[in-house]
Amino acid sequence: MTTENSTTQEPATGKKILLSGSRPTGRQHLGNYVGALAQWLDMQEECECFFMIADWHALTNSYNDTGELPENIRQQMLDWLAVGLDPVKSTIFIQSAIKEHAELNLLLGMFTPLGLAERTTSWKDLVVEQGLDEMRTYGFLGYPVLQSADILMYQAHVVPVGKDQVEHVEKTQDIAQKINVRYGEVFRIPQWRLGRAPVLLGNDGRKMSKSYGNCIYLSDSSKETWDKVRVMVTDPARVTKKDPGDPEKCSVWDYHKVFTPEERHGEIWENCTKAKWGCVECKRVLQEALDRKFEPVRERRAALEAKTGEWHEVLVEGNRKARKRAQKTMEGVREKLHLFPSDGSDGT
Ligand code: SF4
Repeated sequence: MTTENSTTQEPATGKKILLSGSRPTGRQHLGNYVGALAQWLDMQEECECFFMIADWHALTNSYNDTGELPENIRQQMLDWLAVGLDPVKSTIFIQSAIKEHAELNLLLGMFTPLGLAERTTSWKDLVVEQGLDEMRTYGFLGYPVLQSADILMYQAHVVPVGKDQVEHVEKTQDIAQKINVRYGEVFRIPQWRLGRAPVLLGNDGRKMSKSYGNCIYLSDSSKETWDKVRVMVTDPARVTKKDPGDPEKCSVWDYHKVFTPEERHGEIWENCTKAKWGCVECKRVLQEALDRKFEPVRERRAALEAKTGEWHEVLVEGNRKARKRAQKTMEGVREKLHLFPSDGSDGT
């Protein structure tokens, strides 16, 4: 139930509020597209979306060298816009520009039992099990609380997640509920929405990662894409063209399922399992599908890049919109928690 003064008042648009984001990793690859961007494109029609470049989160493991952040942000913005994130429909912003995230992080931290932070899988993996001392920081331990602040700041109804991120929304729910029980309806309790996107491997058969150098990027030219597709790891049983293969053991097939029109899937399966064609022919079909899908994205990206500063203006406007919303939330939070208003007045 909401009241007129509630901080959780439903949006006038009647749409659900969605918060998602990612760290600024730079040029986006096909794994980023399938795992996040493609879903965001669908959701921006259905929801009131806030898409955040989480630069403070990037510092949890790269605090020693932040030099690449500005260029990574620029590259990421170019890809986000080229792929179709629409600043008219959605608010695209940068986390560190909205200082209210830090303020809410502090407040939520007061309500967060240490055990809740210590139960985070990445903390247990990297610090407890692997003993990585450089990750034994206050910031890394507390990043789930900062994530909760990101979500609660926009009173999100929905947070799209992969399986490994469900725990973060659960922690957010726990913290928000704890505050709501004591202080009334301060925060909307967010729900996660599990994406069913397949995981695409890099062209060497390992997890797709910039650090492995095995990514196919949205901004790769047709030739660069082909150079990477051509050497993709396939079913090892296909030593020669005469050996039948099993698409389920081949990462090229995973790409076909996502990018190649479904009406061609039967032909690909048959040609592979009955050794009717070689892997290079199969990869050519994939290359054509990738070109069809991403040539318009490459063109839009080149046009955006030519208009120096346009991506930046989008970000500035997004920051302005996000800050307005964040300030409104924080006014409500301060009032409910009996804190002074941020302008220093006594609130009367
Ligand atoms: S024919 Fe295609 S699906 Fe079969 S192993 Fe080769 S690349 Fe993979």
